[in-house]
Amino acid sequence: MALHKLTISEASAAIEKGEISPVELANALFDRIDAVEKKIGAYVTITMEHAIGQAKEAGNRVRNGEKGKLLGIPMAIKDNMCTEGIKTTCSSNILGNFIPPYESTVTQELKERGYVLTGKTNLDEFAMGSSTENSAFGYTKNPWDTARVPGGSSGGSAAAVAADECIAAIGSDTGGSIRQPASFCGVVGMKPTYGRVSRYGLVAFASSLDQIGPITKTVEDSAILMNIISGNDPYDSTSAPAAIPDFTSVLGKEIKGLKIGIPKEYFIEGIDAEVGEHVKNAVKQLESLGAVPVDISLPHTGYAVATYYILATSEASSNLARYDGVKYGFRAEGKDLLDTYMKTRAKGFGDEVKRRIILGTYALSSGYYDAYYKKAQQVRTLIKQDFEKAFETVDVIVTPTAPTPAFRAGEKTADPLQMYLSDILTISVNLAGMPAISIPCGFTSGSLPVGLQIVGKHFDEEAVFKTAYAYEQSTDWHKRKPKL
Ligand code: GLN
Repeated sequence: MALHKLTISEASAAIEKGEISPVELANALFDRIDAVEKKIGAYVTITMEHAIGQAKEAGNRVRNGEKGKLLGIPMAIKDNMCTEGIKTTCSSNILGNFIPPYESTVTQELKERGYVLTGKTNLDEFAMGSSTENSAFGYTKNPWDTARVPGGSSGGSAAAVAADECIAAIGSDTGGSIRQPASFCGVVGMKPTYGRVSRYGLVAFASSLDQIGPITKTVEDSAILMNIISGNDPYDSTSAPAAIPDFTSVLGKEIKGLKIGIPKEYFIEGIDAEVGEHVKNAVKQLESLGAVPVDISLPHTGYAVATYYILATSEASSNLARYDGVKYGFRAEGKDLLDTYMKTRAKGFGDEVKRRIILGTYALSSGYYDAYYKKAQQVRTLIKQDFEKAFETVDVIVTPTAPTPAFRAGEKTADPLQMYLSDILTISVNLAGMPAISIPCGFTSGSLPVGLQIVGKHFDEEAVFKTAYAYEQSTDWHKRKPKL
């Protein structure tokens, strides 16, 4: 058995039956990492020694009769979530040597259930980007074609899952950073409802948009992880006190009569022809399973990218003010305090982060605040209302996840606007706070994966999972593996 290929559900069953031990499984994963990581570059930090210790501990718990879906499961965590005693860099020089003194709530939940941390994965610096090329610590490559990007910003997590360098991973999504890389790498990426999962210990980028979520090989694994990481947290006042359903209980339920909205604004010029074709076929497939497609309109879609880049950069300029070389992180000594601040930030941040701090500071400055920030907030409300109105008549909304398949490394680095446009189909969902998943729905003639996005109502991840699972089980895209 090629243990590194297992899903959470398969591996936990094998561990429970005593067919494999957590240490065997962890060793298999590190052998795999050894074999392919040079080609992929998914990790910033590999935590092998720590992992073997955790695997031994999980093995003891198994021997004591404990059962649990995550007991002994090797997982990778995006390097913008704090792990106590383990470097958390955000792929930025400014946090290059930062070792958090505390654990994020999400990783704490995973830890308590006995997961094994394989390492911290690469991202665009501070999660700002769509290709993982903005990392201070090297590029991550797409396992399907190493000349191409894995998407971003959770590119390391998605590539690690696609290349079987972990059983599952955790990412974060502010404007598409879980779903777009999942789409580019042919895996499953779930952005939960805003407020569903605690962000305590997630390094903040844009606090009104950031969400943590799973990146997995299957929809079932995604639901398993959502059961564990969801919930209200006293350490994150934006986490909602909503009841947490058993997300796995909807898997396998019929989708007969389910109304799926097809927004006309998401099937327009600029969408790659093969991507459009695969998504249309996916809609037909859902229809053959009993779902009922309904044409809908989300009229303010065209303003989403502009709105996002005002709001996200404004929030980022405020969130990133804390990196000043005084409290923690990198420090470049200057002749006085102000000079130290300036040198630290000039040397510590990369170009894209600086661009966003400048943009955001400008949008928030007096005289421009009303014209930009306030206006963007008003448009955000309109975008949210578009979704709310649509959901009065449909149960889920189906779209492509990204306008194109994975693009070539270097293709968009010289033109930030082109890069920003790669999230055109995911950004509105963050602005509106809805849950959405990306699942594989086909391959281009060049063997690149295509992703299908399924969006749900606020706190209705169940409809999203039900639809995604029904589709996944009636196709075999998720079974394909990149040749490495
Ligand atoms: N690509 C988008 C950006 O650069 C989204 C990033 C994200 O979701 N973290 O902001």
